[in-house]
Amino acid sequence: MKWSIFSRLVTGYLAIFVLVLAIGLYAVMQLRHYNTVTRTILGVNNVVIDYEKKIGDSLLSQIRYERKYLIIKDKSLYVQFTAAKNDFIRYADAILALADTPRKQAFIRKISSYHKRYQDLFAREVEYLTAGEPYEQDRFRQEKGKAVEAALEEMKAMRAHCQQDSYEKILMLRERSDHARTIGVTIAAVTLPLAIIVAFTITRSITRPLSLVIAKTREIEEGVLKDDLSISSPPELGELAKAFNAMCSKLKRVDKMKSDFFSCMSHELRTPLTSIKEGTNLLLEGVGGEASERQRKLLTIISQESDRMIGMVNSVMDLSKMEAGMMEFTYTMEDIRPLIARAVEEAGLLAEAKGIELLVEEIPGIPEVRVDRERILQVLRNLIGNAVKFTLHGGKVTISAGPVTGNLMVVVTDTGPGIAKEYLGTIFDKFQQVPQTDAYRIKGSGLGLALVKHIITAHGGKVWVESEPGKGSSFIFILPV
Ligand code: ADP
Repeated sequence: MKWSIFSRLVTGYLAIFVLVLAIGLYAVMQLRHYNTVTRTILGVNNVVIDYEKKIGDSLLSQIRYERKYLIIKDKSLYVQFTAAKNDFIRYADAILALADTPRKQAFIRKISSYHKRYQDLFAREVEYLTAGEPYEQDRFRQEKGKAVEAALEEMKAMRAHCQQDSYEKILMLRERSDHARTIGVTIAAVTLPLAIIVAFTITRSITRPLSLVIAKTREIEEGVLKDDLSISSPPELGELAKAFNAMCSKLKRVDKMKSDFFSCMSHELRTPLTSIKEGTNLLLEGVGGEASERQRKLLTIISQESDRMIGMVNSVMDLSKMEAGMMEFTYTMEDIRPLIARAVEEAGLLAEAKGIELLVEEIPGIPEVRVDRERILQVLRNLIGNAVKFTLHGGKVTISAGPVTGNLMVVVTDTGPGIAKEYLGTIFDKFQQVPQTDAYRIKGSGLGLALVKHIITAHGGKVWVESEPGKGSSFIFILPV
């Protein structure tokens, strides 16, 4: 999927938005329906029942006034009858306007027609009375009674119908709300996992290539400069990967230029330095005539500094060879003890001058190891040399060797200044030195431990340091048998 991060995020959000919108719309539709039904119950059926009561009352009033009028023939009674009749018609019209079903309309029409019949009968009676003509009073009474009876029956039926309608609607509301709840729960049950899956997939499609970029950054930090980061999507991270690869290629070129420069410079420096040293030694031996005491002192300093410079140049050359993978190792099965003895002997002079006790502890069962003799000697020289170099007058340096889980372990322990925790991880990198107090300020190149690490790693071993500032340090290496 070659979608940009932007499109992925927008799609994800849109998908979730659509789901939420769908649920929202469904809820709104249901609520609208409930609203309509509730309005019918409250605004139609209840009001119709109310009006039905009123038309019933006005019909009874009409009957009362009409009967009294027929006996007393008082005009005011006729007026009151007419008022009750008008009320009846007004309420009936209101019911007709409210009636929301043909059934309700049919009821009110029937009621109105029975009422009309009752009205007509009474009007005719009034005409007979006004004209003073005799008429069949009993027949009229009976006819009016039938019309009123029929109207009241219809009213009763209409009320019952409205009540039944309300009841059915309430039942329907309950059913619909149960149904809506089921649908709501189903939608949520389906869409929620779906939304989680969409969100997870989109996030993963962004974070997975990002973790590749992070891993690559760590590789570069550790000095591995391979331009093999391959990310095809999302395109933004693909571009980032290309930029990383380009950066690695460039860094590799720069690193090679630097190594070439170092090895070339070392070569160029070693030859004149060796000549200076040889010349100085010859002068010290008196080849150019007997030197005065002061001249001898100066010549000795020149010779020592030349040695230091040659050592440094050699280290730079070794390191650049090792970094370029061009260092050749000649492996033989060796007993480490003579190598330790030789490195101790070489450090002996300085140790003696500083009054440092140099101790070798051999744990029984030291195995022979497959090593490049000269390189392991270089390791021992560096570690023991550093231990003596950084330990103050009267201190102690112990070298112990012994078997550990079938391998060989060598530990060089001193009572020197120790190394603060923050430097433990970096002192094996080239040119890294720990800032020292005046008492321990010693000249160095910062290359020895980098060489040690390269050599031990090339042997398939491991080297590390354990230290407590103010108490001392232990440099430990393990070599496979
Ligand atoms: P150099 O000794 O030439 O400076 P190294 O690579 O041998 O370079 O050592 C790097 C740094 O590690 C030293 O400068 C020193 O600060 C610290 N170091 C090495 N060995 C010891 C030790 N035995 N005790 C305290 N610090 C040490």
